[in-house]
Amino acid sequence: MSTRIEAPTEVFLTEDRLAIQALAREFAAKEVLPVADELDPVAGEIPMELRRKMADLRFFGILIPEEFGGLGLGVCEYALVVEELARGWMSVASLIARGQQFAHGFSAEQKAAYLPRMARGEFLSAFALSEAEAGSDVANLHCRAERETDGGWRITGQKMWCTFADGSDYLQVFARTEPLDPARRSHGITCFLMPKERGTLPEGVTGTPVRKIGYHGWKTWELSFDNARVEPGMIVGAEGHGFKVAMGDLVIARIHTAARAIGLARAALEDSIAYAKQRVQFGKPIADKQAIRFKIADMATQIEASRALLHQICVDYDAGRPSNLQASMVKLHASEMAERVTSEGIQIHGGAGFTTDFAVERHWRDARLTKIFEGTSEIQMKIISDTLLGR
Ligand SMILES: Cc1cc2nc3c(=O)[nH]c(=O)nc-3n(C[C@H](O)[C@H](O)[C@H](O)COP(=O)(O)OP(=O)(O)OC[C@H]3O[C@@H](n4cnc5c(N)ncnc54)[C@H](O)[C@@H]3O)c2cc1C
Repeated sequence: MSTRIEAPTEVFLTEDRLAIQALAREFAAKEVLPVADELDPVAGEIPMELRRKMADLRFFGILIPEEFGGLGLGVCEYALVVEELARGWMSVASLIARGQQFAHGFSAEQKAAYLPRMARGEFLSAFALSEAEAGSDVANLHCRAERETDGGWRITGQKMWCTFADGSDYLQVFARTEPLDPARRSHGITCFLMPKERGTLPEGVTGTPVRKIGYHGWKTWELSFDNARVEPGMIVGAEGHGFKVAMGDLVIARIHTAARAIGLARAALEDSIAYAKQRVQFGKPIADKQAIRFKIADMATQIEASRALLHQICVDYDAGRPSNLQASMVKLHASEMAERVTSEGIQIHGGAGFTTDFAVERHWRDARLTKIFEGTSEIQMKIISDTLLGR
């Protein structure tokens, strides 16, 4: 086991990558940021029109192979686009993961049926994995599914934290199809697809939105399944082996979250530079004060360090050298960095930073979440230390 990261053998920002980065940057500045500024303070939802524009730019198909209508690009390009979108609004950067990142374990038939629709942004997922007693310890899930005589299933139980359950085109639900065996807790879980009409919950499913402090743009739900029907042929992967599907491609998931965190930190840095140049105290812009200048220098350096780590890991992944260890490291590094940097952004804004009149408080609220979901910082540290020291 090595923690060394291969040095990139080529320039990271090739002409093609600069072009897709510029496209996403312009889109985020013109189309995403104004919508975020308007809707986040009122906990509004990402408009369908914005989704359509993202589909036109083919952001939903970056990782989907060309044969299925995607762009067939790698995580290098994906991370660049995600950073730009998160600089506008983290929820929008999260939305593009909802198809292309959720096809792990799909059969050839499922790929043929769903990937082209995912690439067009027409088949987007909500992930119903977590439960009240199964967060970091997801293998403890209790939601269960009973087989019907025609090969369909009925799901009963509670799910917690299901983001986008209403706005998505299908739910990806994890339920026990065998009783919990304390010796093999991750065994006997099956992954089900429940296609549904956008804007509704499936029949047999009711829910209550969670009263969250950020990650607006969509609702996060507590769901109750009461004999909810799953049609035959809607299992992903093998029956009883859904835990593997749930863990999916963790490297891509953590690259995605690191890129979101870096986008948020950059937003705080850019907003803080602009504010420091125009805010006058003691007769001069606060940007002239060394205390503020050093904060800016430190913020920029921290962002650059996370980004350099991220880009090297992306190069490794696209070269066929994925590493769970490195993915945990970059997720940990970038999310912890983003909270520190966005908090310093609030400090530079003074009292104005503690109001909803400036976006920097949104960047901080959303950065706070990157330390919690996709595996908390403590879980990343557990993975890293277990790898280095043994369990
Ligand atoms: C806004 C939001 C949106 C979400 N969206 C989704 C979604 O769409 N789908 C979905 O399935 N889930 C979703 N989640 C759930 C998210 O993945 C969990 O919140 C996360 O995994 C942590 O689980 P928990 O909240 O139960 O915390 P807990 O697991 O109870 O953790 C509490 C604390 O204990 C620490 N801890 C736990 N175990 C260990 C350990 N072994 N070693 C050291 N420390 C430990 C944690 O790090 C944390 O600090 C969402 C969560 C939020 C807040």
